[in-house]
Amino acid sequence: MMLAYMDRAAAAAEPEDAGEPAAAAVAAGCAAATDFGGMVSAIPAAVVRPATADDVASAIRAAARTAGLTVAARGNGHSVAGQAMAEGGLVLDMRALALSRRPQMQLVVVSAGGGGAGACRYYADVPGGALWEEVLHWGVKNHGMAPASWTDYLRLTVGGTLSNGGVSGQSFRYGPQVSNVAELEVVTGDGECRVCSPSSHPDLFFAVLGGLGQFGVITRARIPLHKAPQAVQWTRVVYGSFEEYAADAEWLVTRPAEAAFDYVEGFAFVNGDDPVNGWPSVPIPGGARFDPALLPAGAGPVLYCLEVALYQYSDDRPDDEDDKGAAAAAVRRMMAPLKYVRGLEFAAEVGYVDFLSRVNRVEEEARRNGSWDAPHPWLNLFVSARDIADFDRTVIKGMLADGIDGPMLIYPMLKSKWDPNTSVALPEEGEIFYLVALLRFCRGGGPAVDELVAQNGAILRACRANGYDHKAYFPSYRGESEWARHFGDARWRRFLERKALYDPLAILAPGQKIFSRAP
Ligand code: FAD
Repeated sequence: MMLAYMDRAAAAAEPEDAGEPAAAAVAAGCAAATDFGGMVSAIPAAVVRPATADDVASAIRAAARTAGLTVAARGNGHSVAGQAMAEGGLVLDMRALALSRRPQMQLVVVSAGGGGAGACRYYADVPGGALWEEVLHWGVKNHGMAPASWTDYLRLTVGGTLSNGGVSGQSFRYGPQVSNVAELEVVTGDGECRVCSPSSHPDLFFAVLGGLGQFGVITRARIPLHKAPQAVQWTRVVYGSFEEYAADAEWLVTRPAEAAFDYVEGFAFVNGDDPVNGWPSVPIPGGARFDPALLPAGAGPVLYCLEVALYQYSDDRPDDEDDKGAAAAAVRRMMAPLKYVRGLEFAAEVGYVDFLSRVNRVEEEARRNGSWDAPHPWLNLFVSARDIADFDRTVIKGMLADGIDGPMLIYPMLKSKWDPNTSVALPEEGEIFYLVALLRFCRGGGPAVDELVAQNGAILRACRANGYDHKAYFPSYRGESEWARHFGDARWRRFLERKALYDPLAILAPGQKIFSRAP
């Protein structure tokens, strides 16, 4: 086999050894047997460190020749339910592909015809295992350009987020990351390497986007680049009422581009002084005083923080104090009609890279206090705007009013920014739906992980029982019937057809637990 490097996973000789050796593998630091969730482990037969797409193809072809062998691409292992694992199979360490490629990223300039300054389109060709953080630094430093669509946290891989969706506060305006790709190089389950785009092999292109790793391994992606802003006007404001919060957030995400922020997010937090769940989680930069005396009488146990950002470009001459003032004035003008609690507003001007890297500070703190390495029973949902107020009453205020020891993100985005041809499943009703992300960090001394997992199950049952139009984001199901329900009839049929075409032996991404490897 033409593999650059193949590493027997620690303590992982045979699949039937699973059980006790799981602990051994974890103890031996076998990263491929674990993930960020820290709740499941699966020992692979081997970890493959591909240097090229051909290495990926060789590994998949070898698996196709070997009864029962599966292959999982592992990005940065930031899944929470074993999605990038392969019990007794091959794990492709996609970071190796990114780190061995020289140059790692390439600028691609395509003439759009017509002449003049706007005559070219710019793209980054990046390996599937590149971190978004690497793409950002490379683009800004070398070309003053960057992708338009991000995740909150950037130490995720391009292939990993494109296999799911990739969302953040930019999604309402620029679309999710799966809507910001021009071309993919993919190794399918038959070991063939194909280049696809909306105009060449479009079915494969769209299948892979949000395809949970089921149809191919993304070895390269071509991402559109845009001029990078220099600075960001970043503002947080507080609401006592969910109805007012949601009305303002939905108004903001439906503004015409010339009157819109570049980023709109938000989260629910506890009306109390807990450092993680309460008032101190709001001020930016940290340390500013949150004065609870300003809250309206009768504010409930849960409050809401709307977070917006406006980009500032060098043409706005950011060093010029007048222009800085002008940008701040633009923000004030856009905020004026909103119904937030006056006085509970926090604003900062930060560099663009600093703004996009803001979760790194959370990571540093979580590593210091041990909660980064503790289990993460996270639950991510898309909930239709039709049902979000009811969801808030039942779940956020009803079941989670004491907080979750981490952010409870809840913010709207627009369905029209998602291409229905991708594999992502979205709520059915209407144009606006919300991301609800329950990002639990176990600080110790809180409920047992099993209880938190059980609470996630109860939330999902409540969604079904109340008929909320919703979909799991980063779904984790067992068995075909649950997956069929997740996708809905027509999408599930298409998913099955695509699987039969691109990975007929069901070799790829076994950790998603959708299909069983064909004998
Ligand atoms: P992995 O977890 O390694 O893989 C995920 C899935 O994709 C697996 O099935 C794997 O087999 C498959 N896969 C990986 N690479 C490839 C490839 N090259 N080709 C084909 N399939 C592949 N998500 C958001 O949308 N927005 C956020 O703001 C956000 N913030 C996060 C913050 C933190 C701290 C964490 C831990 C996660 C966050 N996520 C967010 C979730 C993240 O998008 C997922 O974990 C996603 O899976 C990417 O992680 P990864 O690159 O480590 O992929």
